[in-house]
Amino acid sequence: MKYDYIVIGGGVIGMTTSREIAARGASIAIIDRQNFGNGASKVAGGILSSMRPWDENIDSHKLSEESKKNYSEFIFKLQEESGINVEFIKSGLIIMNEEHSEKTKKWAINNDIKLTQEIDNNYPEINIPSYSILLPEIYQIRPPLLLNALHKSLQKKSVDMFENSNISNIEIIDNKFRCITLDSGEKIYADNLIITAGAWTDLLLKKIKTSANIKPIRGQMLCVKLKNLTINSIILDEGNYLIPRLDGHVLVGSTMEDVGFMNKTTQIAKDELLNWMYSIIADKKKIDVLDHWSGLRPAVDIGKPVIGNIPDFENIFINTGHFRKGILQAPASAQLLADYLFKNTSFMDIDRFSLGTIEKI
Ligand SMILES: Cc1cc2nc3c(=O)[nH]c(=O)nc-3n(C[C@H](O)[C@H](O)[C@H](O)COP(=O)(O)OP(=O)(O)OC[C@H]3O[C@@H](n4cnc5c(N)ncnc54)[C@H](O)[C@@H]3O)c2cc1C
Repeated sequence: MKYDYIVIGGGVIGMTTSREIAARGASIAIIDRQNFGNGASKVAGGILSSMRPWDENIDSHKLSEESKKNYSEFIFKLQEESGINVEFIKSGLIIMNEEHSEKTKKWAINNDIKLTQEIDNNYPEINIPSYSILLPEIYQIRPPLLLNALHKSLQKKSVDMFENSNISNIEIIDNKFRCITLDSGEKIYADNLIITAGAWTDLLLKKIKTSANIKPIRGQMLCVKLKNLTINSIILDEGNYLIPRLDGHVLVGSTMEDVGFMNKTTQIAKDELLNWMYSIIADKKKIDVLDHWSGLRPAVDIGKPVIGNIPDFENIFINTGHFRKGILQAPASAQLLADYLFKNTSFMDIDRFSLGTIEKI
């Protein structure tokens, strides 16, 4: 069988892209070398907001805003298709860094965004400085549930899913993609190829002698339980945050480490995250650490993802480089690429995310 599209990479971006394209009637095979949803997407916090909205690349900001606008509808349909509740909740976001709360305040006023300057704090044990502000309209989602729901939805849409399938070759003839070969020797043919391999994208692109300048940036996070304390909103302090979950657990994130493909947790990071948390909840006896994990974010130094055609290959496309915002930006990125592939007008020009500066190697 020959598919319309092969998608390589089954994270939030690959699965959302496949779902969007399948919904438009195309046949798809999605391939991952491990189980779907086991990359960065699974370990993400699930905050549906930029951390520094006043400072965001303008194109990335537009993509984030488009996603935010449509997230409720995306989730509503996904939950209906999959029968999985993905814990999409409006928990609000407190910004407690003094400089950042001032900058966010100005940005919110200029952009007509709701904000609260007097924050109710029922627990004196939680240190929320008086200059903190709350953005009440910010949502969060639970990424592992989102990934399960996407997986179910793809099954329902008859997308062929190849898990634990390593790709040994990408066959190109006259600058046109023809097929991929799996380690098993099986060949899978398609009219088009889409690469959504997250932090590993450049390793894959090497097979076709190209680069997109994507590099991995490790993030580590803790999951803790609080004793007799409740946090109701996400609390953000520069790059660190607390995310309260519905089950009472709280995520403590996250580090930013340029350590290549070393995807493992470290004691140093655990201590750093805990020390930061003690600046908010000083009583260590109130905090029980339950879990500690790490993931590799797909980072790109242009400050926005790369979406669109890979120059020199008429039928190879890319959707990656979402760095700290892949969960947030997945629906709009998938829509933008699908609109381009199906020649529909979209909410913005895909060329804003083009691989114009791509390197040949
Ligand atoms: C600690 C942490 C916290 C985060 N918090 C947030 C947050 O709160 N909000 C937010 O929006 N974003 C957050 N992010 C960022 C977000 O997780 C990423 O932007 C997003 O998951 C990227 O999705 P992806 O599908 O591109 O990559 P991935 O989820 O990594 O998926 C890539 C997939 O490609 C597969 N693959 C790679 N190479 C090959 C190959 N050769 N053959 C076959 N398959 C291959 C991998 O196995 C993997 O499954 C966070 C990230 C981390 C690490």
